[in-house]
Amino acid sequence: MGWVKFLGTAGARFVVARQLRFSAGTWIELSGTQLLLDPGPGTLLRCRKVRPALEPLELEGIILTHKHLDHSTDVNIMIEAMADSGLKRRGVLLAPRDALEGDDPVVLRYVRPFLERIETLEPGKTHRVGAVQIKPVPHRHGQVETYGIILTAEEGQLGFVVDTKFFPELPTFYSGCQLLVINTVLREWNPDIDHLSLPEALEIVKAVQPKLAVLTHFGMTMLRGKPWELAAKASEKLGLRILAADDGMTVEAKEWA
Ligand SMILES: [Zn+2]
Ligand SMILES: [Zn+2]
Repeated sequence: MGWVKFLGTAGARFVVARQLRFSAGTWIELSGTQLLLDPGPGTLLRCRKVRPALEPLELEGIILTHKHLDHSTDVNIMIEAMADSGLKRRGVLLAPRDALEGDDPVVLRYVRPFLERIETLEPGKTHRVGAVQIKPVPHRHGQVETYGIILTAEEGQLGFVVDTKFFPELPTFYSGCQLLVINTVLREWNPDIDHLSLPEALEIVKAVQPKLAVLTHFGMTMLRGKPWELAAKASEKLGLRILAADDGMTVEAKEWA
């Protein structure tokens, strides 16, 4: 049934710029509805080159959690591809207001008519695309409006804790998630960077107790520490299933059911 495919797992500027990991987004299928989360640089290329190839024409929606380049570079081309090169009007875009308005919107105005609809993410709002309910979770990530995402479908509840600094209420937003994906940029806590570190990610995992946690969006310090080894160690220590995502890794619904 449902699955989540990590087309890219790069998480910091250096890792993205050098393409030490791919920086493409995450493709999700739940109850037959296909969604794309955070189409960073290389998403279109990666979705056509993975085997089996992913078909943008089958997407029903694109979710942009925030406007940073590693999440948004391919948003315009993916909107066009979802709409059959702009020949059809199809698909939904969910994005924060500052990705759509203001001086520097990342979603180009000329692709917007290709979409069936555009919805702005806002705290407290609930969206629906196909068979999936989508709830934005307000994050704290510098000056950029950023939302984590909770998806609910027949296959259960999936939480995507994207870029944010840690704050005490953060884990409570994700309670009940069976699959928890966490953008874990830093290996060690750093109060000057608005990103989660491994110890903070594990604090969230401990509080939420998902069936499966997946760490992704790695910066240099995580990559040097070999994410798969760090995840295995944490898994043993906490007695919970924790995986480090690899480029192209697919997680199937039976793994979080
Ligand atoms: Zn990021
Ligand atoms: Zn960011």
